[in-house]
Amino acid sequence: MLTCGCGRWMHTEGIEERADEDGALQWFIRSECRGCGLKVGVDVPAWRTHGLVDRLMWTDDALHRLDRMPPYLAPLVRQEVEQDVRARGERVVSYDALLCPRTGERIEWEPEAERRLENVPAPVRAMARIELERTAADRGTSRITVALMEEVKAKYFGMSNVKREA
Ligand SMILES: [Zn+2]
Repeated sequence: MLTCGCGRWMHTEGIEERADEDGALQWFIRSECRGCGLKVGVDVPAWRTHGLVDRLMWTDDALHRLDRMPPYLAPLVRQEVEQDVRARGERVVSYDALLCPRTGERIEWEPEAERRLENVPAPVRAMARIELERTAADRGTSRITVALMEEVKAKYFGMSNVKREA
């Protein structure tokens, strides 16, 4: 728990999923003191919240994905995912948690697509992975193919390594 300089608990206001310079996923945890209004943000390695999250929270990315689900589906998904997260003794619903419901269904990567991802510069790799998995999930597919990569690349990867690869 974070305590503000004024002596009150700080409340978790939001969590952003980001990539650090090596491409590892990080969480940027925003907290606010509701007494004096002080706001702070802390970067931690993903899933290592160090007690900085004071209640069950959805990351901005996971919330965004939930918002785009059909209205009949969203409440069911929310309930199921939150149950799973609580059962694991965790407090954060991440984009990954949302992609892997209890059914155990995971996004699968074609070996060639996985190999190409390794050529993506480290600083954008984690976000590229998320963007690809997000696109696949939006289309109701659970497999990342080179074809999908090519398509998303045009929109998302402006990076030289990927261009040389093509
Ligand atoms: Zn305060």
